[in-house]
Amino acid sequence: MFDLSSKVAFVTGGSRGIGRAIVEALAEQGAHVVFTYATQVAEAEAVCAGVRERGGVAEAMQLDVRDVAMSEARVTETAKRLGRLDVLVANAGIARDGLWVQMKDEALDETLAVNVRGSLGCARAALRPMMKARKGRIIFVSSVVGEMGNAGQTAYAASKAALLGATKSLAREYAKRNVTVNAVTPGFVDTDMTRELPQPVKDAMLGAVPLGRTATAREIATPVVFLASDEASYVTGAVLRVNGGMLT
Ligand code: NAD
Repeated sequence: MFDLSSKVAFVTGGSRGIGRAIVEALAEQGAHVVFTYATQVAEAEAVCAGVRERGGVAEAMQLDVRDVAMSEARVTETAKRLGRLDVLVANAGIARDGLWVQMKDEALDETLAVNVRGSLGCARAALRPMMKARKGRIIFVSSVVGEMGNAGQTAYAASKAALLGATKSLAREYAKRNVTVNAVTPGFVDTDMTRELPQPVKDAMLGAVPLGRTATAREIATPVVFLASDEASYVTGAVLRVNGGMLT
């Protein structure tokens, strides 16, 4: 089950956190994984080395997804060089938190540029080879916050909700080409992004999780592997909640 050997996957933001776990999990299932990192060269190299040690294949390339032309070029080059592109996981994301009345336009613009425009740019480039092959898997990493909102996260929530609209639209638009498009909406995951949150905020968030704990990045990566697999062939336009029961 979930055999990804001979498949090529492209993952954005794979040097740490959830993206890293996704890279590792896809590679474990046999995929040739190409992932991007924004600035963390040493971490990206460590991910590649770790995957290699376990007999997998992963390669890293620098990319700032705010540069849509470059993002599209990276995806297109990868598909050309490796002769196929089976899976895109648009994971790279940022959170710029704060009360909305105090938030600067730049923070909103940056959040939308990374989370929405960056993800959708990669999706546009990935769709071309996938349409030709009449097969493909696009997975957006959204958030529970995009579904239920969160005080202090208006910009982030708006960006993650936008990805859900995009997921459903692209799923309808490319179903005829047998390209499935789905989203995962993680809840509270133990990564650098959440470690930076003040303790009272963390406590309040944990109090809202029926499973009573944060998720590991691996627990988000596993459902992504499922969505990337042949076994998920009839799942499209879906929002897969991985939130410990926070929102049902
Ligand atoms: P993280 O901060 O550890 O990792 C974010 C990744 O995005 C990093 O690899 C970073 O290099 C990359 N990135 C950021 N800006 C970029 C840019 N301009 N260009 C290219 N790459 C860029 O965060 P994480 O917790 O691993 O989050 C991964 C994804 O999961 C994000 O989309 C995030 O919104 C989402 N998410 C996280 C949580 C959580 O609790 N941690 C919950 C729900 C959703």
